[in-house]
Amino acid sequence: MAKKKPAGYVGRFAPSPTGPLHFGSLLAATASYLEATTNSGQWLLRIEDIDAPRASPDAEQYIIEALESYGFEWHGNVRFQSREIDRHLALVDKLLTDGFAYPCSCSRQDLANVPRGPLGRIYPGTCRRGCEGGDVAIRIRTNALPIAFHDVLQGRQEQLLEPESGDFVIRRRDGLIAYHLAVVADDFAQRVTHVVRGIDLLDSTPRQIYLQQLLGYPAPEYAHIPIGTNPSGEKLGKSTGAAAIATEEVRPTLVAALMALGQKPPAELAECRLDAIWSWARENWNMGVLTGQTNLPMPR
Ligand code: GLU
Repeated sequence: MAKKKPAGYVGRFAPSPTGPLHFGSLLAATASYLEATTNSGQWLLRIEDIDAPRASPDAEQYIIEALESYGFEWHGNVRFQSREIDRHLALVDKLLTDGFAYPCSCSRQDLANVPRGPLGRIYPGTCRRGCEGGDVAIRIRTNALPIAFHDVLQGRQEQLLEPESGDFVIRRRDGLIAYHLAVVADDFAQRVTHVVRGIDLLDSTPRQIYLQQLLGYPAPEYAHIPIGTNPSGEKLGKSTGAAAIATEEVRPTLVAALMALGQKPPAELAECRLDAIWSWARENWNMGVLTGQTNLPMPR
C-alpha cells in the first residue's frame, strides 16, 4: 500500500486538445486521478488549448465527454488555459523586467544550422545582448548551474539547461505563449501540489522547475509514469496515429488501463459496473509498482 501524502493534495490532468483521448492519455488521466483520490486530494481538469492553431474545439469536447463516460470526476469547473493569456503575458513582462528573459528576433531560418542537443536546437545566444526589433520571441536566459529534482518514480534527475536545452522560448514570435510558461503559471495558479504525467515530459521538467525558481513558485512533486508504446516501440500518441479510446463500452478499456499501469485486477472486473471498477482501483491502487519503468509495451 502506497504511503499516504500529507493533506492538501491537488493533482491534475492537463490534456492538449489536438486530437481525441487515446490510450496513452487515458493512462496519465487514470494514474493522476487515482493518486489524487487515494490521497484524499482534489483532481483538476485543465484543457491546455493555448496553441490555438493546433487546438480543436471538437477535440476539447470529445476529451471532456470521454472522461465523463469513463466516470472521472474533477473538482470544480474545467479550466481552459487560453482564457488565462493575460496572466501569462504579465508573467512574461515580469521575467523581462527582472532580466531573466530577453527578446529574440532570430527567425527559424537564422537558426536552421545551429547544432542540436538532446532536447532540440540549442539557441546560440545571438540576441542575449539585444536584438533589432520586429516580431520577437521571448527567451529565458539559462545558465550552467544544474537543475536537479527527485521524481517519485524515476528517481533523481539532473539537467544542465544552458548546454542541454539552451535559452528556451516562453513567448513565440507569433505572440503565442509557449507550453513551459503556461504549465508553470497554471499549476501555480491552481495550487497544484502533485503532477503525475507521462514520462515523455520528464525532460521538460527541469525547464519548468527553473521557471518556478525565477518566479518564486514552489515546485510540485513530480511522478512521471511510463507511457504506452506501440509494437514498434513508438510513443502512443497522436503523431503515431494512436486510436481514440472507446467511449461506449468503456469498462474493458478501463480495466486494460489498470493492467497497463501494473495493477492486477481480477479477470471478472471488466464485467462489473463502472463504479465497482473504480472502487476496486481505489482500494488496490499502488503507483509504486511503476518505479523505474519507462516503457509499457501495449498489445496491438
Ligand atoms: N498538455 C500536455 C500534453 O497533453 C501535458 C502537460 C502536463 O501534464 O504537464 O502533452
